[in-house]
Amino acid sequence: LHPGVSSTGNLLTLTLLCDIKWYLEKLLFYLNLDICYFPAVMVQEDYHSQNPYHNAVHAADVTQAMHCYLQEPKLSQSLTPWDVLLSLIAAATHDLDHPGVNQPFLIKTNHYLATLYKNTSVLENHHWRSAVGLLRESGLFAHMSLENRQLMESQIGDLILATDISQQNEYLSMFRSHLDRGDLCLEDANHRHFILQMALKCADICNPCRTWELSKQWSEKVTEEFFHQGNHSCLQINSDLYLVLIEIYSAVWDFLLYWVVFLANGSWN
Ligand SMILES: [Zn+2]
Repeated sequence: LHPGVSSTGNLLTLTLLCDIKWYLEKLLFYLNLDICYFPAVMVQEDYHSQNPYHNAVHAADVTQAMHCYLQEPKLSQSLTPWDVLLSLIAAATHDLDHPGVNQPFLIKTNHYLATLYKNTSVLENHHWRSAVGLLRESGLFAHMSLENRQLMESQIGDLILATDISQQNEYLSMFRSHLDRGDLCLEDANHRHFILQMALKCADICNPCRTWELSKQWSEKVTEEFFHQGNHSCLQINSDLYLVLIEIYSAVWDFLLYWVVFLANGSWN
């Protein structure tokens, strides 16, 4: 990881290093939002620094990748400032308050979150609700009407919920169909929203595409977290972890391939 970032995760340092903080400040100024209310420190503190992988450094890594995607000419010409701000907030909060274990573990151990969210996108629902709570507490959008605030919260939710790994195949086949037809039109708000979901999904899983020095460390971190979970699970859950790892890494390459095709041409043609 970057030498300026501690292993416990310093989101502010990393965003500063990557120029995102400057970009965010410009964006907030443009949207007439008060930078004083931007909850960067709160976001950092709501990640668990003891998690080897799902901590504030991962959030910063995903936010930096999202920032790069948003700068791609194919996207930057069509996105509104709100699209950009909500995408960066969703990226920074997409794993907020992650407990360091996955959904099958939460379901099999009858965790209260699994019950609360009826075994469906358990972690992603929790990250989204945590993000909404944090944003409300920060007061960043307090001046907006209730209707607009609810719309903003639900758009952030759609982005975060799209990172659910168990929904990969549905998103992958929708993306593939659009690329086959070459019908993605970024002037259409629904298509733009779908592409931002794809962007966040790719940002979330793109660390194998970093330099070898970085991607090797990310693999070690995610493996460490999985094995740490395995130490607290029964044998069946432990064996499931290998399947999850295989599933994640096979989906990574398909998504990234489709994403590159989209950024380059918008279709397979
Ligand atoms: Zn993530």
